[in-house]
Amino acid sequence: MERPASIVKELIENSIDANANKIYVEVKEGGKSFIKVTDNGNGMDKKDAELSWQRHSTSKIKDAKDLFSINTLGFRGEALASIAAVSELTIITKQDNDISGNKIVVHGGTEVLNEEYGCPKGTSIEVKNLFFNTPARKKYMKSIEVEIRHITDIVTRYALIYPIIAFKLVHNKHVIVNSPSTEDKLANISFIYGNNVAKNLIEINYTEENIKVTGFVSKPVITRSTKADQSIYVNNRYIKKNQIITDAINNAYKTFVMVHRHPIVILNIELNVNNTDVNVHPQKAEIRIQNEKKLYNVVFNAVKNVLEETDLIPEALEIKQETLNIEISDEHKVEDAKQKLLVKETSVVKTTKFDLKILGIINKTYILAEVPGNLLLIDQHAAAERILYEKYTKELKNNNVFVQKLLNPEILELNPKQFNTAIDKKDFLANFGYQVEEFGVNTLIIRTIPIVLGKQFNKDIFIDYLDELNKGMPESLEQFFHDRIARMACRTAIKAGDDITLPQIKEYIKEIFTNEFPSTCPHGRPIVIKWTFYELEKMFKRVV
Ligand code: ADP
Ligand code: MG
Repeated sequence: MERPASIVKELIENSIDANANKIYVEVKEGGKSFIKVTDNGNGMDKKDAELSWQRHSTSKIKDAKDLFSINTLGFRGEALASIAAVSELTIITKQDNDISGNKIVVHGGTEVLNEEYGCPKGTSIEVKNLFFNTPARKKYMKSIEVEIRHITDIVTRYALIYPIIAFKLVHNKHVIVNSPSTEDKLANISFIYGNNVAKNLIEINYTEENIKVTGFVSKPVITRSTKADQSIYVNNRYIKKNQIITDAINNAYKTFVMVHRHPIVILNIELNVNNTDVNVHPQKAEIRIQNEKKLYNVVFNAVKNVLEETDLIPEALEIKQETLNIEISDEHKVEDAKQKLLVKETSVVKTTKFDLKILGIINKTYILAEVPGNLLLIDQHAAAERILYEKYTKELKNNNVFVQKLLNPEILELNPKQFNTAIDKKDFLANFGYQVEEFGVNTLIIRTIPIVLGKQFNKDIFIDYLDELNKGMPESLEQFFHDRIARMACRTAIKAGDDITLPQIKEYIKEIFTNEFPSTCPHGRPIVIKWTFYELEKMFKRVV
């Protein structure tokens, strides 16, 4: 119990276990700075109150199997005992049917008061003079601003996942958190993160292999620069850090958000703890899970599936608000370009989602199109890039890269390092579609290239590849695929400013608007932006 914030966490968890629907957290500075958590939960009778602050005195564990019970957040009956040992603790509590309650005061582990006390139903636990008897620990307390930030964080995390509980956090006289009690999960989140976030959240409700994943994740249009707004819970307990779960979520998002941007996530993972191959060991804010691979897969699938099933085409107005601060690399900037192709006749493409009418091309970069209810702009380069990426990734995964035999095999002189890598990793390269052989001193002959990367051998891409491999075999092929292929696809794909033909456009559109197709290029830039007719009408003041 090193920090005021962990004390608050334990006290809140006890209030939740006591079925409270109102939890009031107060933090006050001054002579004997204190933390007080008051709830309207079940309360304790006199005997339980006397036991509550004794070590291993939990009322929540009846036998060994309850140790990992999913019904309570309590664990080993240690929290109150360790807080009582290093502070002046006051417990005031009353059960609904009792006429009066009890007040117990404990100083540094010794009871100094125990009397009948008039109070409403519920429990109030006050912690004063923290670490008064352990000055060394007191010294390590962070500044009050830092402590308040951590406390705000923990109150917010629980407010997000327990909509039915009204949370209030007050620092001195200043109200920091004040969330209502509501059945509506989204309304609750809206109260904490605002409506703009709430309306761009996607609900998840997914079960696989006895693991249930519920909660909300943000559409790629709403992202953050850090992972701070990713809240993970296991069996309703807030988990500060779990690499497996975080990796699963962020890998599922990989192609949907920009590099270095992070979705907002509020996810509860319910593990059946009686199931022998999954054990949760709640140790403060961390957990260990036996079957990590399984957990990873389920969380990954839960997030990935919902992203693939949702219409993620961002609305133009939202793009403006959310993504203006991203870095734009030069290669994606567009010069003014003279228009060559104009779609004269109306071209309708039937996709699996809708009929799409091609209206034309703007600035040799954007395909302008109409679908029922919406006007679309499609970035020709982002689309081409994504299509290539998907094709190549699929071929690689199936171990079936379509290759092109070069009529005139390419002779390539390399530095010794590159040459040795190429010969060493010959089989690996072959899997990627490059068939290479030694041709002389530090010289390679290249006989085939992957067809997706165009008709011509691109020396730069290949050499980059070798340099990359030179650093060692990739740890995760998935990561290697993603980064390299994304870059290759980017270089090979048609650019902004390149001429594009009508049949090509039609082909792109058919591919982009299938159900599984992601809504961003491999780097996370959007492929399509839409204006709803309704928004257009609003802008033109036809409707209010
Ligand atoms: P644990 O939560 O692991 O059981 P704690 O030390 O946190 O252990 O709490 C000890 C016991 O005190 C709990 O099992 C519970 O019976 C009682 N208790 C603590 N806080 C409350 C509360 N706010 N309302 C009702 N009972 C409480
Ligand atoms: Mg507890």
